[in-house]
Parts: sequence; C-alpha cells; structure tokens
Amino acid sequence: MNNLHLYGWSSFSPKISSSKNSYDHNQIGRVTSVKGHHYHIITSEGEQRAELLGRLVVAYEKEDQPKVGDWVQFMKVDESSVFITEVLPRKNLLFRKTAGKEHATQVLATNLDYAVVVQGLDQDFNLNRLERYLVQIIGCGITPAVVLTKCDLISDKQYYLDEIKRLQRGAEVFFCSSQTGEGILELEMNLFKPGSTSVLVGSSGVGKSSLVNALLKEAARAIDSISTSTNKGKHTTTTRDMLMLANGAMLIDTPGMREFGLGVNENTDLGQQFPVIETYAQNCKFSDCSHTNEEGCAVLAAYASGELDAVIYDNYIKLMKEQQRFQTKAYERKQEQRQFGKMVRDVQKIKKRLKGK
Ligand code: GDP
Ligand code: ZN
Repeated sequence: MNNLHLYGWSSFSPKISSSKNSYDHNQIGRVTSVKGHHYHIITSEGEQRAELLGRLVVAYEKEDQPKVGDWVQFMKVDESSVFITEVLPRKNLLFRKTAGKEHATQVLATNLDYAVVVQGLDQDFNLNRLERYLVQIIGCGITPAVVLTKCDLISDKQYYLDEIKRLQRGAEVFFCSSQTGEGILELEMNLFKPGSTSVLVGSSGVGKSSLVNALLKEAARAIDSISTSTNKGKHTTTTRDMLMLANGAMLIDTPGMREFGLGVNENTDLGQQFPVIETYAQNCKFSDCSHTNEEGCAVLAAYASGELDAVIYDNYIKLMKEQQRFQTKAYERKQEQRQFGKMVRDVQKIKKRLKGK
C-alpha cells in the first residue's frame, strides 16, 4: 500500500485539492523530524533525508519553514540529495509563545487532528495549567484531548473528571498507566485512530516517553502475534519526532516544556476562547467590558453570586492579561520595525537630497 496514504495523505489531500497547484504524488512527503536544517521525510518510497532548498531558507519566515507534520513537495537530485521545494498549505498548526522571549512564537507541529495535553496523576495534575494548554490549543483551531497518566497512583478518577468538567471545555479525558498497561488499548481504539495525527504536549516528567513506549510495545505485541518473529517485546527506538503506531495512527512527541506560553495573534477573537465567560458577557452594560471593575458587568455579577465558577473567572483574568501582554509586545515589535523602516527611508531621502546638491 502507498506509504503516503498510510501517513494520512488521504485525509489531508482533499483539503488542498482546491488550491491551484496539482501535486505529483511521487514528489510528496511528510516531515517526520527536523534537526536544524536536516529533515526526515516519509515518501511513497520510504524514508528520505532531505534539506530545504537554499533559496527557501531565505524566502521563508522561520514559522513557514518545514515543521514536523508538514506535507512537502520535494525534488530528488540523486540518492543522497533530496531537496524540499515547497511546504504545502497547512490544515492547522499548534504553536506556543517561545519561552523567555515576549513576542516570538514556536511552531510545535502541523496538520493535526488532535492536540493531546498529558498530565501525570502524581504531583503534576494542575487545573490552571490544563486550561492554559486548552486555551492555546483551541485558539489554534485544533481539537484538544486530555490524557491523565500514572492512573495506578490514584483511586478516585471521578474527582479528576469533575475538576476538568469545571472548565467546561468539552475535551475528552482518558486515563492510563504505562506501568500497569491500563487504558493503553483504549487510547489506541478511541483517540489514536488509524490515519489520524496527534501531538502530545506536557511538562517534562508527566510520563510522555513512557506512554509512547507503552503504545509502541502494544504495537510490537500486535505485530508479533501475526508474524513468527521471536523478538518478543522488542520495539524500535527512534529519533523521529513523528511515529506511527501499529494501527496506523501518527503520534508527534514534543520535548517536555517548562512553560507553555499563550500567544494567539491579534485577529483571534478572545471571547471565543472563553465560551463560559462569553455567555455572561453578552449581558454586560458595555460592549468593551473588561469584566474587572465596570458597572453593570454581568460576568462580575455571576461571579459574585457564585453562579460563575471562581476558578474559571480567576483563570480567565490571568490568561487574558498574559495574552494581552503578548499582543502588546507583538504590536510594539511591529511598530519598532516600522519605525526602523521609516528611519532607513528618511536617511536614504537625506542622502539623495545631499547628492542632488
Ligand atoms: P516524560 O518526561 O514526560 O517523558 O516522563 P517519563 O516517561 O520519563 O516519566 C517520568 C517519571 O514518571 C519516570 O520516573 C517514570 O517511571 C514515571 N512514570 C511514567 N509513567 C508512569 C505510570 O504510568 N505510573 C507510574 N507510577 N509512574 C510512571
Ligand atoms: Zn463585563
């Protein structure tokens, strides 16, 4: 069977069929790993190393350069030189605010069916952090899901389900343990479905690598049962960031993150990211109400009466502030660039005038 279809091409290609270009299937691949300027792509002939065509390095903004999950067009000069010539239009992309820098963003993965927030049920479970992830994922237009690992350490799952329910985000929640194997098969059956692409995000230590290994072991078992292989339980470790499970689901692992900064751009409707707040906000006296101190604020009224969950409100204010800070910084940066551009033009004008004299 054609590799491309295995790697999700059939669910991706109809989305771009309307674009003006038609693509030669023999020159289409999907990026499975990015290390500096070195890429691995999976093609209809298997895996290839590739580089970005020189002029694209310059032409593309960093964000537009190939990322894990991207479909690309490539050109094969010979066995050892394969060049990526174009990144196909993305269905979506998950990004975060770059750690430390106030205004820059980092693309984590592209062309996703799910972005899966992983938290461990030891010290790691944190509702505020969970919502921060969900807000950014939803802001990127991607369907979120939640996987709670290390469920061997807890007895009361309902407590966690109830907590997450407070966020009213409607994300599906799964429990699993890489240690006992509980819930692993369910993940394969109900979340990581054949042909789908999911990215895993979470702090380090939440158990992502253990989970990926457990899923791959599950895969190795499935393969063993149909082959006569004696390598029972042996699974391939790999340096690729995008892996395929035995059932044909693609899984993109990201390195553990200390910070998952919000950074949704200016055009995003912030209200949409907080649907619970938005339902009250419609009744605020002022249409540009900040829901912090205005008279006739329906959100504050709901908060005061206890109808609006305090956790949701507090988090909303916190995340809004953070996002506004990001947008201000992004705006200031643009202004600075504009001013710099103007300065350069002014200097050129002056030079011209001087020359003319
Ligand atoms: P990562 O940083 O997210 O990749 O986390 P790891 O997979 O390296 O796991 C971090 C720690 O959690 C390790 O000490 C694991 O042994 C432990 N761990 C991972 N999964 C489980 C689990 O399902 N149950 C328990 N009890 N511990 C786990
Ligand atoms: Zn209000």
